[in-house]
Amino acid sequence: MSKFIDYAEIGVKGGDGGSGCLSFRREKYVPKGGPDGGDGGNGGDVIIQVDQHLGTLLDFKYKRYYRAENGKSGKGKNQQGKKGNDVVIKVPPGTMVKDLEKGKLLSDLVSEDQLVVVAKGGKRGRGNAYFKTPTEKSPRKFENGQKGEQKRLSLELKVLADVGIVGYPNSGKSTLLAKLSQARPKIDDYPFTTLHPNLGVVKMKNYHSFILADIPGLIQDAHKGKGLGLEFLRHIQRTKVLIFLLDATSPDFKEQFHTLKKEMRLFDPGLLKKKAILVLNKIDLLTSRRFKINLNSQLPRCRISALTGEGLEKLLKLLDKELKREK
Ligand code: GDP
Ligand code: MG
Repeated sequence: MSKFIDYAEIGVKGGDGGSGCLSFRREKYVPKGGPDGGDGGNGGDVIIQVDQHLGTLLDFKYKRYYRAENGKSGKGKNQQGKKGNDVVIKVPPGTMVKDLEKGKLLSDLVSEDQLVVVAKGGKRGRGNAYFKTPTEKSPRKFENGQKGEQKRLSLELKVLADVGIVGYPNSGKSTLLAKLSQARPKIDDYPFTTLHPNLGVVKMKNYHSFILADIPGLIQDAHKGKGLGLEFLRHIQRTKVLIFLLDATSPDFKEQFHTLKKEMRLFDPGLLKKKAILVLNKIDLLTSRRFKINLNSQLPRCRISALTGEGLEKLLKLLDKELKREK
């Protein structure tokens, strides 16, 4: 099954604790000095923390294993071993961290700088100086440091998009996204993230983020048992406003609109309660400018050409209005 880019699996290990030391004081004229073996240092922790500036989990494609530093061993003369350094892994806000073996959610990292310790460092071992008692003046006892925790984790980025564009292949979704985010010459430039051939997100500078979905494509894949339906739902459910994008030059765009609605209802009837805008695309190709949309629907609507940009201002105004109504 194809994986989303905003999903990663990593291994983490806390540093091992440093061992305690077995040592006795050596002094002139004192044949057998007391115990002076110091404690080890604790192992470092592996920590996952939100970095507001990150937007994807792409980094984890290249580095998949994170290990914190071991604590140093204790030494004679009651010298403590140094604590191992922590490792801090930065993730974008909206990352869910799961323990893969236990299948348990460890944290849903949302807010700025929020963090979770995912693998604790091992506890230090104590040196023999610690075990001195009135009856045991020369203990040979000391502890080894404990092993650091080890885990396999999954990281999953929930994509937050304000607007979802749903439509048949070739209705012009990619073109519309490209036009709306004009600063970028190519649509697959960062920060456009292709999560799946049929699903993507684009973040706009001073505007909202958009998510793009080819509904029929997703449904076909879901029927093949690929579980994409659920992934799709998770993403689209979080959008505030949907755009139904229809190709005005297609002879059966009315049927397509009703099929889109039907298929979405099958996924989740609640989806149809979302604010939505009906957008008729490719009007530059229409011969009659007085083209009527008779779609038997109460949705606000507009006519655009994603290619020439005609009507986009109206579309953005409508979007703005619906997004405000949503708040
Ligand atoms: P998607 O499959 O929904 O992402 O559709 P695309 O954005 O890839 O567009 C499919 C085709 O329609 C491409 O050849 C586009 O250039 C073309 N297209 C998209 N919007 C318009 C439009 O407003 N006018 C015209 N004439 N062509 C368009
Ligand atoms: Mg496309």
